[in-house]
Amino acid sequence: MKVYNSLTKAKEDFEPLNGNKVNMYSCGVTVYDKCHIGHARSLYIFDVIRRHLKNSGFDVTFVRNITDVDDKIIAKANQSGKTFEDVVEENIVLYENDLAMLKIDKADIEPRATHNIEGMKVHVQALIDKGFAYEAGGDVYFKVRKFEDYGKLSGQSIEKMLEGVRIEADSKKQDPLDFALWKRSKPGEPFWPSPWGEGRPGWHIECSVMSMKELGCDTLDIHAGGRDLVFPHHENEIAQSEALTGKPFAKYWIHNGLLKIDGQKMAKSLGNFITVEDALQKYDVDDVKMFFLSSHYSSEIDFSDKNIEESHKKIQKIKIFLSEAKTKIGQVPAGTIDAVVEDYRNRFIATMDDDFNTPKALGVIFEMITEVNKSSYEQMYVDAARVIVELCRNTFGLSLNDDQAQGLTHEEQILIDERIKARAQKDYKRSDEIRDKLKDLGIVVEDGKDGQTWRRA
Ligand SMILES: [Zn+2]
Repeated sequence: MKVYNSLTKAKEDFEPLNGNKVNMYSCGVTVYDKCHIGHARSLYIFDVIRRHLKNSGFDVTFVRNITDVDDKIIAKANQSGKTFEDVVEENIVLYENDLAMLKIDKADIEPRATHNIEGMKVHVQALIDKGFAYEAGGDVYFKVRKFEDYGKLSGQSIEKMLEGVRIEADSKKQDPLDFALWKRSKPGEPFWPSPWGEGRPGWHIECSVMSMKELGCDTLDIHAGGRDLVFPHHENEIAQSEALTGKPFAKYWIHNGLLKIDGQKMAKSLGNFITVEDALQKYDVDDVKMFFLSSHYSSEIDFSDKNIEESHKKIQKIKIFLSEAKTKIGQVPAGTIDAVVEDYRNRFIATMDDDFNTPKALGVIFEMITEVNKSSYEQMYVDAARVIVELCRNTFGLSLNDDQAQGLTHEEQILIDERIKARAQKDYKRSDEIRDKLKDLGIVVEDGKDGQTWRRA
């Protein structure tokens, strides 16, 4: 298996540190608002990666945190007149609903930052003791220039980073690059007692402490997250972890690309902010997942009606193939898997082994559908259907449910199936008749090089 490592900027052989045990951490959500469709991509794509690792025989422990103390949560509480705790609890419920609607598995461990404050204080104190951090007026800052490897993940020079740093007039920092490990709390803000006074942890320290604690190691096998987190969040996670342990914080860093909306950056101010809830009211969850799978996880993607429509067609194609196969089950004896199908299955796995290349893996599935559709060999048809269901469900987490199979009535389903047969038998007169009947029922069928797809008019 090969994985593109953002740290080394190279595709590397995937060799976890302890045999087949994989310790994997992904930065989770900050619970101050509803999740948006960009979160859904990140949550889903790491679910797929975790599934593929598990299916490949790795013993994966996956930790995804919940950031439940942060400036944004405090700001939200102040704006809305709600308590800090209410904002957190409400948004955790919404987040869990989103995961359930997306049919994304929970992580093995989902630690909350506020349940790990003690560990964060211990980590911060140890950094002070080692000379990597200092207290200033109730805040504690990390001394960026003391950590020689700073910038190794984002590949930025100190000068470049300085340009991007806001110089605060009233800053207590010794250097503008330094970042907060601990923040003194203002009146009305949540706080915990500490050796530096009442305060709360900075965002970055949360992930270092929770990942190492829950996974029980100093070096994670995989640290995952969105590309927007590389700098400063992940850079800071590396600095504060490695300064303490003297060991690499993570062997492989995997970052997903960002999601745009109709070619634009998603932002509340642009009015193009799409929550998971909104998206799933409009589109079927399998169609949304198919859209995510259709691009490599590291590339930027554009969420648009047109692109989801394309994904919808791909899902339909798979469902049509499966419903056709259903009519053949029982006609063929159970036995060893057809060699041609087995070959496609192996190619699918090899493609996923190559840096989780989901668009290529989908290509293998559609190639198989095309080849099998041309064949009149029923064993191959049935085996292909079985393998497609296995790969789509186990690796991609698609449901491919018959009932949502498009909400076809029984009569419509029969006509669709009949037309597939008519075309297979080159009975174009019959197939045209059925197409007209379907049209009267409000269903448009289209014939592509890979067979028939349909949609509601
Ligand atoms: Zn993080």
